[in-house]
Order: sequence, then structure tokens, then C-alpha cells
Amino acid sequence: MKTLLPTSTAGSLPKPSWLAQPETLWSPWKLQGDELREGKQDALRLSLQEQQQAGIDIVGDGEQSRQHFVTTFIEHLSGVDFAQRETVRIRNRYDASVPTVVGEVSRQKPVFVDDAKFLRAQTTQPIKWALPGPMTMIDTLYDGHYKSREKLAWEFAKILNQEAKELEAAGVDIIQFDEPAFNVFFDEVNDWGIATLERAREGLKCETAVHICYGYGIKANTEWKKTLGSEWRQYEEIFPKLQKSNIDIISLECHNSRVPMELLELIRGKKVMVGAIDVATNTIETPEEVAATLRKALQFVDADKLCPCTNCGMAPLSRQVALGKLKALNAGAEIVRKELTGL
Ligand SMILES: [Zn+2]
Repeated sequence: MKTLLPTSTAGSLPKPSWLAQPETLWSPWKLQGDELREGKQDALRLSLQEQQQAGIDIVGDGEQSRQHFVTTFIEHLSGVDFAQRETVRIRNRYDASVPTVVGEVSRQKPVFVDDAKFLRAQTTQPIKWALPGPMTMIDTLYDGHYKSREKLAWEFAKILNQEAKELEAAGVDIIQFDEPAFNVFFDEVNDWGIATLERAREGLKCETAVHICYGYGIKANTEWKKTLGSEWRQYEEIFPKLQKSNIDIISLECHNSRVPMELLELIRGKKVMVGAIDVATNTIETPEEVAATLRKALQFVDADKLCPCTNCGMAPLSRQVALGKLKALNAGAEIVRKELTGL
């Protein structure tokens, strides 16, 4: 692996059209039973190969075996009834029909561990595995049992910790918790959000990351972004406490966003996955555009702590666009690497 500016992705990548309807979230599977199991593994292999072709250093599964980054994990737990739906407001942004917590939540068996072992067997490169964070999980459910967002988050943190420990044992190098909800509920993040995240990573020896973004490039998110004004200072509310946390890496949306780059100063000392690819547009960045974002970030992130990344997952994009963006990410990182090493 290149030691300077190792590239990675936020997580999800497009699925092949024979596995699920492209450019759609929560797209239903096109296969069933054994065919589906095999299809997911084949898609994982393809996704890995595309990341490798594009020169990505820290690779992942492209989330090929899950329909959605939050829902699929919860589907494997007991205590949540997916048939009993209630309409709730997700991240204060849009209404959605969600499953109901009907009893104590628990994990009866591993969720992604076999998939992670499969990925591990395919490559010797460092691998990163994404899990939803506790706060983002509770925000996509109706809680008819605990009646307390905080209490449910602590329960999920315990479950995530069980899964994370087994992922680590399966050879995962970086475990990432996706917490887009951190960009919305600042008081809760500071009161117990970061604490539950630390509970989820308790006892792990591998590196841990938290991904905090402004969401996929779907309409509800782009409309919400329009209401945020000319400067997005959400990160400012949570960075001081995050800087003091034991999470190693912070994954952020930085490209084409209105986040003032100087906010990164607040997490100085942490590794930062700098989003240098916009996932809300089909326009493929030029390497020079990627390099410009990385150079800006380098004013506030030490070079040995900067990992070029995508703003968010690319599941809703076409495969061709996503691959082009991965290549641009690597080419842009290469420009800046050469500048840094003087080669
Ligand atoms: Zn994201």
C-alpha cells in the first residue's frame, strides 16, 4: 500500500444490474436462495476488482451484500418487527415508514462476518468494513419498547461491539461506523452519541472510523442541503468532543460542499478521510479538482494523517460513473503525493 495519502471509499458502490436494479436505493434483489448468495459473492469480487483497477488502497466490499447500510444490519437482529411499520421523520428531514422495536434487541448470530471473511480471502490489501452507528440506527426505527433514544442507542452499541469484535477477528483492518445522524442531533451527539460510539468500539485493536456526511445524492438530501445556508458549520458542534474520543479516523464530506475547510483544525491529530469526490452529481471530477480539495485539506490535516476518500457512498450512481470517480480520486491523490514527496 502507498503509505502517503492512501485512498478509500466511504463504503457502498453500485451493484451489477443482474443482482439489483441499478441507481436505486433499497433496490430489491433479482436473485433468490443459493443463486442470491452466489450472486452477492460474485458482485463483491467485481466490486473489489474495480476498486483495485482504479488504484484504491484501502478496499471494501462495496456493500454488495446489503440492500441498505442501516436496514440490512437491523434486519438480522431480534426485537425489531419489520411487518409493523410506523411513519417517522428521519434525521429531521423526510418521512419514512420504518420498522418497530417490539422487545429487547439482540444479535442471535453474526451479520456480516462471513462476508468479511470472504473479502479477506480475496485480497492482501487493507480492508475496511462499514457498520451503521448507534444513533443512525435508532433514527430509522420506531421505538415501541424502550421509549428512550438513548437507552436504545446503548443497546445497539453493545450489539455493534459484538459484531465489530468478530469482524476484527475475521481480519478487517478498519471498522467504520456510519453516523450521518451526527450532523443533525448535536446535543444528543455530545450527551451520549459519541459515548455510545466508544462503547461500540470498546476493546478493539484494529483502527476505527466514523463517517459523518450530508447523505447520499438523493432528492431529500439535496433539498435539505439548500436550507443549510452558505456555510455548513454542523461539524463545528461535534468536532471538539470527537477530537477527544478514542475513534481513530473521521470520514467527512469536503468536496463541493459548503463545509469551511478550516473546521478540520478542530480534529487535528485524528486521521481524516477527506471526501474529495461528490456523490450527488454524475459529473466525474478531474484529477486536478480532486487535488485542489486535498491541498486545501492539507492546510488543516497533517499529510501522514490524510486519506483521500469519497464524500459518501456511491450506491445510487451508475457503475460507469462510480468507476470514473474512483479513478479520478486516485489520479488526484497521485498529483498531491508527487507534490509532497518532490518526485
Ligand atoms: Zn455518507
